[in-house]
Amino acid sequence: MSTESHTGTRRVEIYDTTLRDGSQREGLSLTAEDKLRIAEQLDVLGVDYIEGGWPGASPKEDEFFQRAARELHLNKAKLVAFGSTRRANIAPEDDAVLADMLAANVDTICLVAKSWDYHVTEALKTTLDEAVAMVSDSVAYLREQGKTVFIDAEHFFDGYLRGPEFGLRVLKAAHDAGAARLVLCDTNGGMLPNQVFDIVSEVHERFPEFALAGHFHDDTGCAVANSIAAVRAGAVQIQGCMNGYGERTGNANLTTLIPNLSLKLGVPSIEPEKLAKLTPIANHVAELVNVALNPQAPYVGRSAFAHKAGIHTSAISRARDAYEHVDPELVGNGTKFVASEMAGKATIRLRADQAGIDLTDTQVAEATQRLKSLEHQGYHFEVADASFDLLLRSIAGWEQPFFAVESYRVFTEHRTSDVVVSEATIKVTANGERLIATAEGNGPVNALDGALRRAIGEIYPELTKVHLTDYKVRVLNSGAATAAVTRVLLDSSDERGTWTTMGVSENIIDASWQALCDSIVTGLLRSRGG
Ligand SMILES: [Zn+2]
Repeated sequence: MSTESHTGTRRVEIYDTTLRDGSQREGLSLTAEDKLRIAEQLDVLGVDYIEGGWPGASPKEDEFFQRAARELHLNKAKLVAFGSTRRANIAPEDDAVLADMLAANVDTICLVAKSWDYHVTEALKTTLDEAVAMVSDSVAYLREQGKTVFIDAEHFFDGYLRGPEFGLRVLKAAHDAGAARLVLCDTNGGMLPNQVFDIVSEVHERFPEFALAGHFHDDTGCAVANSIAAVRAGAVQIQGCMNGYGERTGNANLTTLIPNLSLKLGVPSIEPEKLAKLTPIANHVAELVNVALNPQAPYVGRSAFAHKAGIHTSAISRARDAYEHVDPELVGNGTKFVASEMAGKATIRLRADQAGIDLTDTQVAEATQRLKSLEHQGYHFEVADASFDLLLRSIAGWEQPFFAVESYRVFTEHRTSDVVVSEATIKVTANGERLIATAEGNGPVNALDGALRRAIGEIYPELTKVHLTDYKVRVLNSGAATAAVTRVLLDSSDERGTWTTMGVSENIIDASWQALCDSIVTGLLRSRGG
């Protein structure tokens, strides 16, 4: 058995499956809108493929592919539809799953195929010959329709260890029918790197013409190590998820794997200049899926380059490479005590310029301080771009001229066993008029939104074009001795696009109200070209 590495200077493709396999993580639920926005981030990072989901599996999946065709403008990444091979004893052209994949209207399709004979006889309840035919027929049919086809060989490693013949037969059939990538999957996640290296090496040496890929789950804590082993043994593509999301213990974490490939192995994957976007994008995606980023995540975590007191900080700043395994800025992170303030100023200046807000140097410094103290309170502006712009405007001396709030009140009433209604009353001044309005809603935020719009809607009819599209709540520091604070993120849209606002408070209604006011003010600014 060879221990020689096959990497050389060959580039490895990054195939992201956050939107499909990653969303299997317990407690994670993505709307079509969330998926579109995550896909945009993945494209900015420069991954090669984005697996969008399983067309036909649910209306949400179909909505995603329909909207992606209209709204998603990817620069580099190719969108992939996932599904299974044709069912047993049916022609591919009569198979509903294959038809759904074609209807998704993307160029690349990834088909999952059984590659462990035990699963064919026990789960599929068909013959091995038919299982192989299901693969080759499905690949050939999709190739005839002009699609690029990848095959996910499910349970490949487990099956191979019990007898390699059937798995190799499936790979050969897929390859001969025109599959472009043969993805060896550790579906149960039980492999160790030495096993992966040996098995991928054997397959690669026996069939050097196969373009092999790897798909690993983290049940042994080795998904990233297994991915590296597969690359060293000849794989040309790795499938994984942002922040290691995925079922059970998760999939191979791309935010760890990508810098390991680039900075440790010298294997190119994403373009080198994109590496510095890794930390901001990891945070952005974490906000979009509403799961706090693990502070100890390698490379991108808040603590990844944080140095505890005890080592004299000036010694570290003189010789950072003595204390840090890579320069944090290579992955867009920062050494906590050295770089954060400077990086903060540059970022703030950039953002203000983009938004057309004039800030003096003193105001930029003030914004840096405000940002620090707000982040300490639980504000996190990575996603809430609109609230951040409003903060910069207020530091520049701007006050929103649209309305002044005198008071608001909201209550929720349980009327019958299945009717719960919220009612809000708002008193505001706008255009020199004192306005009072009441509205009902299916929840307190909905009622407040209705009342505010009723109060000022006649003065600002353009608000009919501003819609609230999503509402996310997270309770912060719930384990701490101090009272928990609630952070609300509110997504809004108008004809030209979407924006996100934020509120933080010990009171969920107050947090929601802050996010709502920021949303309405931003909508009014946008309608005036701001
Ligand atoms: Zn998987």
